[in-house]
This record gives sequence, structure tokens and C-alpha cells, in this order.
Amino acid sequence: MNWEDFRHWGRRAADWAADYHAGLRSRPVRAQVTPGAVLSALPDAPPEGAEAMQAIFDDFEQTIMPGMTHWQHPRFFAYFPANAAPVSVLAEYFVSAIAAQCMLWQTSPAATELETRVCDWMRQAIGLPDGFTGVIQDSASSATLCAVLTMRERTLNWQGNKAGLSGQPRLRVYCSAEVHTSIDRAIWIAGLGEENLVRIPTQGPTRAMDADALRAAIAADRAAGHLPAGIIACTGGTSAGASDDIAAVMDVAEAEGLYTHVDAAWAGSAMICPEFRTLWAGVERADSVVMNPHKWLGAQFDCTTHFLRDPEDLVRTLAIQPEYLKTHGADRIVNYSEWSVPLGRRFRALKLWFLIRAHGLEGLREMIRNHVTWAQDLAARLERTEGFEIVTQPMLSLFTFRHIATANLDAHNQGLLNRINDDGRIYLTQTRIDGALVIRFQAGAFTATAEDVAMAYDVITELAGAD
Ligand SMILES: *Cc1c(COP(=O)(O)O)cnc(C)c1O
Repeated sequence: MNWEDFRHWGRRAADWAADYHAGLRSRPVRAQVTPGAVLSALPDAPPEGAEAMQAIFDDFEQTIMPGMTHWQHPRFFAYFPANAAPVSVLAEYFVSAIAAQCMLWQTSPAATELETRVCDWMRQAIGLPDGFTGVIQDSASSATLCAVLTMRERTLNWQGNKAGLSGQPRLRVYCSAEVHTSIDRAIWIAGLGEENLVRIPTQGPTRAMDADALRAAIAADRAAGHLPAGIIACTGGTSAGASDDIAAVMDVAEAEGLYTHVDAAWAGSAMICPEFRTLWAGVERADSVVMNPHKWLGAQFDCTTHFLRDPEDLVRTLAIQPEYLKTHGADRIVNYSEWSVPLGRRFRALKLWFLIRAHGLEGLREMIRNHVTWAQDLAARLERTEGFEIVTQPMLSLFTFRHIATANLDAHNQGLLNRINDDGRIYLTQTRIDGALVIRFQAGAFTATAEDVAMAYDVITELAGAD
């Protein structure tokens, strides 16, 4: 394909995308294919000769699309959303066409300076005080890895990268029992070892880590000769929205001199609404905060904003400057590749800029407030419905429930969930709360309406009755 052909196919792609989204409500949300079906429809060997674009396009529609789960479906109530507002998809189209490598200021000054600006817009939007500096990472997992590496280096007086960890006391990191698996991974990759991730028990309806238990764990570790390095707190855990008391965690961290990272990958988007900020009161005292505009807010995946109270700690941990990467002569310039693990960087700031401008913060707030209200309404309706039990009350737009049965509660609810997802009108996932299997619901799709959430009630109650 040359760029003249691209003109034609680019227009067709735009039409296809608009038609696809217009028709989403009539597709089953979760792909309804059996394992191996797509694989067996694909030729074993790659083509030796060029194929016509029309043939490739036809196969895309006939072979690939039936095997896709529709994350932009208005009735996608599973996991967390990965919203892609149309305007952010458009921005990605431009980013793909320009295809710049934005690792250094001079490899695209506008990309760096726009990133500086939109990160500060996001900082203001979520109510973090002046003094936090943002960077866009590819994912919350990467931001958390950066934070753990910073904890490690800071605790080892910046010698870990050079000397490695052998011969060092055990470095210890603390978190609640409700954190995302990306924290385990960060601990593994940073070389700290899973055994040194200390999980503090949670308590109360918010499932927050117990600050006294945290203090006691740190004291015990110091007594044993270990090196406490940092605390990872969580606002809006993945399973049921567990949220730590950030102020209480910060009290401990400040008394102990520990680096703190707050994982608000999902719930952070809701902080554009001032009324939800009590959920992370005290966050202004954290060293590092991560939230994903690529989840609820509508910035097409991937786009993670990572805020730092002192970016020098991170840059000191990650910057390598071989001669060929130096930008000579220019002062006061930022090279964001020194703030993240990969060197190469896509131009992610553009979609955030397009998104915030095209919708305005007020438009985005309205979406989030609607989702929260609709999820609460649904939870209240299910709670009033005979046979249903709300297991964890709504935390923003996320709650968990189950259908009561006389025996085999877990198998009964797994069966209900399977019937719901095979039906295709809505898509839900499961989690475990205190060992029991429960069904998880979150409202968050960019184009969801009150009617879509109401349909969830109809589907759930209809299929529970069909048992
Ligand atoms: C989704 C999520 C993550 C992981 O986010 P990625 O951007 O996919 O790495 C981490 N923590 C929480 C609380 C999440 O909800």
C-alpha cells in the first residue's frame, strides 16, 4: 500500500469505525467463539506474494471480528472499562500517521512540551496540589515498577543499579491484601522477591489496610534487620474497590521515612469530580500517584499518568545518558525517556489533549457521575430483589453481588455468570470476596445509558430465574 491507496482505505476505515460503533448494541458483548476457531481459520504459512487489500479487509471482517470481545460496547460491565472516546481514536490516527519516536525533547519538542502541559492539566483536574509533576507511562504496571525501583534505589542510597542486591539486607515493601497483581510483578522484576512484599490485613467496609498492623510490621522488620523501603497504598482496588485510608498510611510513612506510591489506576479518573476526592484524602502527601486516563476517562489505550512529588528521585533511578542520546547545549529541557523503563515513547499526550478539549472536564464529570449513580441504582434494585445479595456495596461504580442458592453457592453463581455471558446482551466477570465467588458489576462504558444499565437488571434477574 502506498499513501495514495491509504487515502482510499483510510476513508473506508473511518466509515467502518463509525458503522461498527453505531451497530455495537446488536453484537454480543463477549466473543462467542470456541478456543482455536480463529487460529484454525488462518493459513498455516505466510503469503509469498502480495495480497489485495480488499481480500485482507474481507478476512478481517469475517475471521477476526467474530472473535473480538467488544470493549467499547455500551453494556460492557466486566473488569474495568478501557474507554476510547472517538476523539481520542482520531488523535491516535494522527499519532500513527506521524509515527514519531518521542524519547527525547529534540526527537519531537512538541510531544514533550504537550506532555508537560496535559499532565499538568490532569494534575489540576484530579485535584493534586501544585508541585506534583506528571509523566505519561504506557501502563499503571510500568508506573508502579518505576515507583518500586525508586523505593529500592533510595533505600540503597542509589547503589542498587550498580552493585545489585546480593549481600544486602532484605528490602521490604508494604501493601494491603487487596492490591493489583501489577504490584507483585513490580516486586519480582525489581529483584526484591515476593516474600518481601508484606501484605497488611484490611478492615472495615472500605477494606483499608490496618495502620496499626502496618506500623507493627515495619517495627518487626527493623528489629529483624530488614530494610523497609516503601508503602504502596490503593484507591479503588480491582476486585471490589478496596481503598486505603491514605492519610493514615502517610502518617506511618512520614514517621518511618518511607517512599509512598498510590495506585488509583481505575478510581483516579473519578477524582475529576471534587465530591469523590474524600476517597483518597491525604494523597497530596504521597511521593508517587498513578491513574489511568485509558480506563474510565476515555483516552484510548494506552495512557497512564504518573505524578511525582520529586521527579528527581525517579530520574536518578532510571536515567542513563550514553553519548549518542545527549542533547547538547539545551538547558531546561526534559527527556521523558529518563522517567520510564522503555527508551522508546509513543506520542501519547496528543489523545489526552484532544479528549480534554473536545469534552471539557464538565463533560467527562457528567459521564462519571452518571455511571456512579446508575451503578448505585442497580445495586439498590438488586438488593430489593428476592434471592439477591449485595456482597460489597458500590465503591464509585463498582459493586459485587450473588444469587442465593441452598447449596453450592459458588457453582451456582458461576453457572449464572456463564449463562449471562453466553447470552451476550451484557458482560460481567467474577471475583472472590473472603473466599466466596461473587459476580462483579461496574458501569463505565463511554456510551452507556441508563437504559443499558437497566437492561443489566433484566438480564441478571431473567437468567437467575432460568436456573
Ligand atoms: C487496571 C489496574 C492496574 C493495571 O493497569 P495497567 O495500566 O493495565 O497496567 C493496576 N492497579 C489497579 C488498581 C487497576 O485497576
